[in-house]
Amino acid sequence: MENIVIIGAGPAGISAALYAARGNLNPLVINNGIGALEKAEKIENYYGLEQPVSGRELYERGLAQAEALGVRVIEAEVLGISGFDTFTVKTTAGDFDTVSVILATGGKRTAPKIPGLREFEGRGVSYCAVCDAFFYRGKEVAVVGNGDFALHEAEQLRNVTQDVTIYTDGKKPEFSREHPISVNTMKIQAIEGEDKVSGLLMQSDASVQEAETQVKSFYPADGVFIALGTAGSTEIARQMGAEITDKGNIKINEEMETTIPGLFAAGDCTGGLLQVSKAVYEGSMAAISAGKYVRSKKSS
Ligand SMILES: Cc1cc2nc3c(=O)[nH]c(=O)nc-3n(C[C@H](O)[C@H](O)[C@H](O)COP(=O)(O)OP(=O)(O)OC[C@H]3O[C@@H](n4cnc5c(N)ncnc54)[C@H](O)[C@@H]3O)c2cc1C
Repeated sequence: MENIVIIGAGPAGISAALYAARGNLNPLVINNGIGALEKAEKIENYYGLEQPVSGRELYERGLAQAEALGVRVIEAEVLGISGFDTFTVKTTAGDFDTVSVILATGGKRTAPKIPGLREFEGRGVSYCAVCDAFFYRGKEVAVVGNGDFALHEAEQLRNVTQDVTIYTDGKKPEFSREHPISVNTMKIQAIEGEDKVSGLLMQSDASVQEAETQVKSFYPADGVFIALGTAGSTEIARQMGAEITDKGNIKINEEMETTIPGLFAAGDCTGGLLQVSKAVYEGSMAAISAGKYVRSKKSS
């Protein structure tokens, strides 16, 4: 059983790892490559940088600093977290049991620009299979995504209905393992319905004679689950039942505690100032709070 699993190795995750390691808590960092810093050409407003550095350089320096302190960093994608008293972090590299978790996976994912998506949110469009699968028992459901996160969500839905299709919205499927779920790779034109979702309208390919090839353009679905890219902090927190703010960020208090005991969050995923300095502060605070939590659990 791990003490603290930190998800993300950006400024928030690495700062948390440095504090946790120096607090003798032997944290485990799970990371899926560079985050927001990838697009930052030059950082020159962070303390101590006489010459600006690129976002990538700052990221690599952070990782090297943590590893020099003996922090274990695993390259894997986190797919979801289960549990309440202690947690199991499910990743593409296996499952990890832990007393506490710090979510530091960066900013919210931008929702795909599919007409009808916003309109049907809460009326058939969902971002969380664990939360909403129950409403779709025995019904026809669509999962939009093309990677392991989409596969994970589809598998959650298969516990309540066999009628699950993954729609990649024109993207190449990138599943890391074999699976029995049907996959449609056509581009989505719109999510359709009246009071609630009735299905997906796909872009017809002008080069295909639809009548001849039996290619359909409307695929019925009672529910559409959005699972594009990797699971972000908000998706993971929502799956776990943690409170999300009106702006779609993870709700935290001054100790970086979420509304779930043992689950902490730091950095861009909590909203506010989206800058390295704030991510570093929150990461440190989250590690201090998680350390207190781990010690209190161990002494009880
Ligand atoms: C173009 C641009 C320029 C910027 N310029 C500046 C600047 O000049 N100064 C400044 O202070 N800030 C700047 N920023 C903002 C800064 O980059 C962010 O505020 C900061 O990186 C946030 O840190 P974070 O640790 O919260 O998230 P991130 O740096 O985004 O790190 C998130 C980490 O989580 C990991 N992750 C995500 N999902 C998963 C998953 N499912 N499983 C495993 N790992 C996962 C990612 O791989 C990544 O390592 C800029 C941002 C951008 C986009």
